[in-house]
Amino acid sequence: MSSLNQVATQYRSLRFSNIAEALERLIGEAEANEVTYLQFAEQLVKHEMSSRDVKRIAQNMRRAGFPLHKTLSEFDYRAQTTVSKREINALLDFTFIEQRQNLVFIGPPGVGKTHLATGIAVKAIEAGYKVLFVTALELIEILELAEISGELKKKIQQLAKHDILAIDELGYLPMSKQGMYNLFQLINAMYEHRSLIITTNKDFTSWHEFFFDDNVAVPIVDRIIHHSKIFMLGGESFRLREKLGK
Ligand code: ADP
Ligand code: MG
Repeated sequence: MSSLNQVATQYRSLRFSNIAEALERLIGEAEANEVTYLQFAEQLVKHEMSSRDVKRIAQNMRRAGFPLHKTLSEFDYRAQTTVSKREINALLDFTFIEQRQNLVFIGPPGVGKTHLATGIAVKAIEAGYKVLFVTALELIEILELAEISGELKKKIQQLAKHDILAIDELGYLPMSKQGMYNLFQLINAMYEHRSLIITTNKDFTSWHEFFFDDNVAVPIVDRIIHHSKIFMLGGESFRLREKLGK
């Protein structure tokens, strides 16, 4: 009969490394609990599957590129009364992703837009979705670099593979005509296909100011707003309040 180590090595060579790692413990538990052979066979495969899920989620969390790992449980709805916990929690069944809807958080600085966008995206990853979190500035740069090397289309396809593309701080700075055009290509590719989460300090009515060419701005804004849930956040800056000890 093979030794435990030999069996573990065989599992590993078949790429069941999670079973291999936990084999001794799983066997010990099965013996202690006197489970049936069928139950044990099931426990092995379940262990492999759930371990893969955990690792994939951890990998997706790293790849999402959050600037800060903020969670919804850290969000204080008493400090931000223009959005309710119920409204935000209602998003967490992720029908908005299945229905290819966008979420847009509009409001002045410091009111929790990035925190909420991050918190929802973290939950989405935990539920098995893929997310990329970028600032608008980073996104424009990514697209620009791809455009220069003649790989814009490829890059857009790659970005559109995420279930959610979160674009933070859209509209804070004006962008070049080419930047805007590249962004339009991306939003077009994602439109009715993937979800965007956008945070912005600009009301839609003033978006044409930063997308300086209206011919492009109108269709971009149109595509973002169509199928969107819009959250208008108000109130005082949380950062300022913390500083003032309010
Ligand atoms: P915005 O993106 O609207 O400028 P942020 O989401 O970055 O604001 O919030 C600024 C800081 O204040 C962050 O550290 C954030 O975690 C915190 N913050 C904002 N609103 C809340 C809130 N309601 N509860 C807890 N922390 C908050
Ligand atoms: Mg922000």
